[in-house]
Parts: sequence; C-alpha cells; structure tokens
Amino acid sequence: MIIELRSDTLTKPTSGMLEAMWSARVGDDVFGEDPTVNALEEKLAAMFGMEAGLFCPSGTMTNQIAIRLHTGLQTEVICHEHSHIYLYEGGGIMSNSNASVKLLGGEFGRLRPEDILDAINPDDVHAPETTLVSLENTMNKGGGSIYALREIEPIYNICKQNGLKLHLDGARLFNALVETGEDPKDWGRMFDTISICLSKGLGCPVGSVLIGSQRDIKKARKVRKAFGGGMRQAGFLAAAGIYALDHHIDRLKEDHRRAKQLGEMLEGHEMIKEVFPVVTNIVIAKLKEISPALMLEKLSIVGIKAVRFGKDQIRFVTHLDFDDEQLEQFGRRLNDINY
Ligand SMILES: *Cc1c(COP(=O)(O)O)cnc(C)c1O
Repeated sequence: MIIELRSDTLTKPTSGMLEAMWSARVGDDVFGEDPTVNALEEKLAAMFGMEAGLFCPSGTMTNQIAIRLHTGLQTEVICHEHSHIYLYEGGGIMSNSNASVKLLGGEFGRLRPEDILDAINPDDVHAPETTLVSLENTMNKGGGSIYALREIEPIYNICKQNGLKLHLDGARLFNALVETGEDPKDWGRMFDTISICLSKGLGCPVGSVLIGSQRDIKKARKVRKAFGGGMRQAGFLAAAGIYALDHHIDRLKEDHRRAKQLGEMLEGHEMIKEVFPVVTNIVIAKLKEISPALMLEKLSIVGIKAVRFGKDQIRFVTHLDFDDEQLEQFGRRLNDINY
C-alpha cells in the first residue's frame, strides 16, 4: 500500500460526497440558473458574513480574479516572497493583471505590519501605485503556519488608512479556523475578498470559491468569464462543496493531530535535521546530508510519497484519505530508511 502524502489535493470523493454529487439539482450557471452553485456561493459567503460568492474551477483562478479586481496598469501588489500567488500561479499577476509585485520576508511566511507600511509606495511619478496587500492563511511555504486574527488587525488598519485593498488566499483557511476556534465572520470583516479551496483538506474533486461584496463579486463574474472559468451544469461539483462544508470541517483536526505525530516521528530520524513547527496539516522537514531527490527515492522504495520543498527540504501533507493505520505504517517504514 502506497502512503500518499504529497498533497491534500490527491483525495478521492467519499461515498457520501459522491451521492450528494449524483443527486444534485443543476442548471446552466453562466445563466445564473444552477441552484446548487447558487446555494454553495450563498452558504460560504454567509459563513463569513460576506455578501456574495463565486464558484470557480481552481484556487489559482479565485486568487487571480481577486488580484485583477484590486489592481490595474502601473499598480503594485504587496505579498510575501513565498506566497502562492507569486510562486505557484504561473506569473499570473503579471500576465493577467499587468501589475508589479513587492515581495517581503517574514517568519514562516507571515508579513509584519511595519514592513507592509514601509513597502507602500509614495505618491510619486516614479513609482507604481500600491493598491493591494495579499496574505495567505494557512501559509503553505511557512509549513502550514497560522495568522491569529489579532495579527491581522494592524494590517487591516494600515490598508484602511492608506486606501489599499486586502485579499486573503485562504486555500486552507478552515485548517486555521479549526485550530484557533475563531469566528469566520470576524475574518470576513477584515478582508475585501477571500479565496477558499474546496479541493484541499475539505476533500472535493474540484473547486474554489471567492467571497466578497456584491459589487466585487459582480465584477468577478465577468472576469471569470474572460478567464474561461464560466462552467455550465457545475452544480454536480458545487454539491461536493456543500457536502464538504457540512461534513469535512471539524475532522480537519484529525489531520492536524496526525501531522503532529508524523512530525515527531520525523524529528527522531537520523537523516532529518529539523522539522518546522507543525500547526496544521503540513509538515516540512529539513534534511541533513542527503539531497531531497535521494531522500524522496528512499521514501518511495518503502512506499511513502512526499515532495521536494526547497533545496534541502521535503513536505508531507496529511488529509482525508490518510488514517491512523497508515500513520503507524509510516513510522515503521521510516525506521527502515538509513544512509
Ligand atoms: C492550492 C493552493 C492554491 C490554489 O491552487 P489550485 O491548485 O489552483 O486550486 C492557492 N493558494 C494556496 C496557498 C494553495 O495551497
């Protein structure tokens, strides 16, 4: 049996989810007539106290649509140097929005308010106009790290005072919320737009939702059309999303517990230098004197799949299809690996 830990996107729909998909009521969503898509968009927006939602094929699309809404020619986005919108979206900030980017550092992928303030361009003929700050929670490259709501507040205030929009790449936002117990509505108040993936820890086969104001989502719908993301009887997919919101949020805690245990197993291993603090479902391990490629090969021989994550790091992600029995197996197989 292969133990699949490359990503939480590799899960297959559960039988309950498949049943919900089969029995979905559908219509043409480009006409606004798919009742299941409409229900999903309304449900997720309401959870965060926001006005409207837009169902899209991917989290890359929801992020890129948001960036398009909040930028224009000769403008600039502030984000972390390890953010998904910069590293992993095909250069879309440039090619979709013609915007410039200012990259900041920050421990475990989190931006500091004082750095954001410093990074806002002056009103000067030489500089692109800063219009958007984009945050990520949980932070993938930060090892699944979390921002607490009180860390967002000063950033929110800086954006308000300087007329900047604030976007959240919340691909794994529910992983953060089940850990902190914070109210999604308090998060909804802080951001102009939030992107949430259904296809990560929530276990759907496809889909992400962008939530925001009525006005922004109306514009977003038009951008989605231009990006080729207007789907027809998408209710079959949205039904999986509704099912996941009803059944797969609380159980994310189990993924986090297993990730912590997995991190402890790795920590004791002779080839591992250190493990990033495990907060949610992502475990990043720094290697000692072995390349990621060779380590991944050794893991693969014992039936464990992970990915390279930087020049001396590998990443494991726990998910819906990874259970306690596989965790125990993981520990045993790890002990079989040596130089
Ligand atoms: C997965 C992910 C996305 C969106 O990815 P898609 O594969 O396009 O759905 C966005 N941000 C982060 C942090 C992610 O992990």
